[in-house]
Amino acid sequence: MSLKICTIVGARPQFIKAATVSRAIRKTDGLSEVMIHTGQHFDADMSDVFFSELDIPTPHHRLEIHGGGHGAMTGRMLAAIEPILIAEKPDWVVVYGDTNSTLAGSLAAAKLHIPIAHVEAGLRSFNRRMPEEVNRVLTDHLSALHLCPTQAAVDNLAGEGIRGGVHHIGDVMYDATLFAIDRASGTSGILAELAVNPKAYGVATIHRAENTDDAKSLRAVIAFLKKQAKAIPIILPLHPRTRQNAERMGVSLEGLRVIGPVGYVDMARLINGAGAVFTDSGGLQKEAYFHRVPCTTLRGETEWVETISHGWNRLWNGPDFAERRQITEYGDGRAAFRIAELLKNSR
Ligand code: UDP
Repeated sequence: MSLKICTIVGARPQFIKAATVSRAIRKTDGLSEVMIHTGQHFDADMSDVFFSELDIPTPHHRLEIHGGGHGAMTGRMLAAIEPILIAEKPDWVVVYGDTNSTLAGSLAAAKLHIPIAHVEAGLRSFNRRMPEEVNRVLTDHLSALHLCPTQAAVDNLAGEGIRGGVHHIGDVMYDATLFAIDRASGTSGILAELAVNPKAYGVATIHRAENTDDAKSLRAVIAFLKKQAKAIPIILPLHPRTRQNAERMGVSLEGLRVIGPVGYVDMARLINGAGAVFTDSGGLQKEAYFHRVPCTTLRGETEWVETISHGWNRLWNGPDFAERRQITEYGDGRAAFRIAELLKNSR
């Protein structure tokens, strides 16, 4: 008998993570998948490009829910996901990371007694002011299968009394990076398009609420990037929220090489060719390591503590890089297959 997996995604990093797991599900006998796309990210360059580039099948259900406050958005998603789960009757709901789509999917499933598998379980910033932290703590406490990328994540769950169904499987973002490197070597012409030479530029991303929601914070982070831009050109593929807020708040981006969001294959090439990465993104901190590029995190804390302790990452207001060492716990690029096997053997 085949087990039916319902995958719930909605935001850019979730498309990238789900692509790896969806591929593994398709290659594993005894599993089938239906996908719900909540619509949290909806632009062609924040959504569609990832589906086409990363071979993600067209979602079976598109909810087109975005915008509004966190509560309103999560509530609308919850109401829309529930009847789909009732109709689809999946054996598992699989959610990713820490967005409103993650929490809405988990709540809808939990109320219907459908077991939840959380990919990227156990990450903590210990900063409850971050909407992501609230989403991930609640999701972990609702989930039956905790798919942890790191030992620190396993330890965080243990600290909250969660010990059953916890598996350190490695990081699906490493699987995604290997796939993108393979594609990027053949198809990405982004460095030529931008007329930059390998290692002679930096790449930056900013999208977190703590950096973009008020003018003072946004000005501070942009000023930091402009200072870096005096040494090397800084390419900034701008998140739509950051662009809107910068325009609304009158924060000038002059001096930075601002481009629109790019697809995953071009992004992999951009990181791979960069001399430095500056970011508030969780995914990018690890991708910088996967490409062996030093990263400066534009936040006061990080969930990816091993990137700091192993010398590949530093906080912009923290100490200098530690001595560099290899990080082994992100796995061997087969985290997604481990997830598929765990799901298959779960019932
Ligand atoms: N990314 C991308 N194009 C861009 C900017 C980012 O493909 O223009 C990728 C990036 O490589 C990483 C993911 O999007 O894999 C990160 O997404 P985001 O920063 O939105 O979320 P977070 O990682 O903080 O959850």
